[in-house]
Amino acid sequence: MIDYRSDTVTKPTPEMISFMQLAEVGDDVYGEDSTINTLEKEVANLFGHEAALYCPSGTMTNQIAIKTHTQPGDEIICHAYSHIYQYEGGGIAFNSAVQTNLIHTDRGVFAPADVEERIRPDDVHFSRTSLVSIENTCNKGGGTCWELDEIKAIESVCRNNNLKLHLDGARVFNAIAAKHYTPQEIGTKFDSISVCFSKGLGAPVGSVLIGNTDFIKQAKRWRKVMGGGMRQAGYIAAGALYALRHHRERLQEDHKRMELLINGLKNLPFVEHCQTPETNIGIVHFSDSQTVDRILSHLKNNAILTSAMGPKTIRFVTHLHHTDKDIERTIDTLTEFA
Ligand SMILES: *Cc1c(COP(=O)(O)O)cnc(C)c1O
Repeated sequence: MIDYRSDTVTKPTPEMISFMQLAEVGDDVYGEDSTINTLEKEVANLFGHEAALYCPSGTMTNQIAIKTHTQPGDEIICHAYSHIYQYEGGGIAFNSAVQTNLIHTDRGVFAPADVEERIRPDDVHFSRTSLVSIENTCNKGGGTCWELDEIKAIESVCRNNNLKLHLDGARVFNAIAAKHYTPQEIGTKFDSISVCFSKGLGAPVGSVLIGNTDFIKQAKRWRKVMGGGMRQAGYIAAGALYALRHHRERLQEDHKRMELLINGLKNLPFVEHCQTPETNIGIVHFSDSQTVDRILSHLKNNAILTSAMGPKTIRFVTHLHHTDKDIERTIDTLTEFA
């Protein structure tokens, strides 16, 4: 089976499993799990921040960040494609009683003017704008990357207007691998960052929220409230620590394989258009939804799994279980489709 549905389907490698088995653990709610403490310290240092917090999921790290940065009735400026808006179960409203002011652009990347024109004046009629959130890479945009200069420009709008800036960096390591900026260069532009280890990095569970000491202290309170305080979770955090140390460089292989795949698909007669891939996500457009349904079942009959992203599009995601042969077999299978 070749599984392109998501990079979340990855399982721990044998080396990762061995490292996890040997993890030193303790009660993390008491702050006594040394593996988690090490992970948090390494991740915070890497991104140029003071502190970090290990959580069960990227949804939780994002939601805790929003809760910590805002008050009920506030407004967040973010892109309409944002995971925080699209795929977190309405958590912005549920957890924080906050509303969104959405930006609409093609790839999920936006400009300072898009933010500026959405900042509310200080007036009792309006919601209070308190937070801007960026997603890098942007999943729904097609694994698209922000340039460092584009981030700097948003950062300065936020500083000038007293707004906090959050990064949903579920796939920030893919952006770093593709754009060659350092974690610290990107990290220091933000007040908080959420990174996932259960995606392309291949750990089984977990995300980390990064920020300054005061922010993380408050975040820890909200993690407990949301039921995310775990005990001997060092066994799973060890998977994240292993991934952090050993799986970042290889993300470029996933990007190369996605390029290979899209190059093999883009000239097929039934493919209408392929978005040029920037990382490990490929978006392929078809003329109608019947073609999409038939292609999905043709692939499934040939032991290849992927999923639709809208009625006329299919999303492919490459990850550490794929080989060049898998890509060839996928191209051959689709070339046979008529
Ligand atoms: C996967 C993902 C998350 C977090 O998802 P969880 O499944 O809750 O870990 C957050 N943001 C983006 C952009 C994602 O792709």
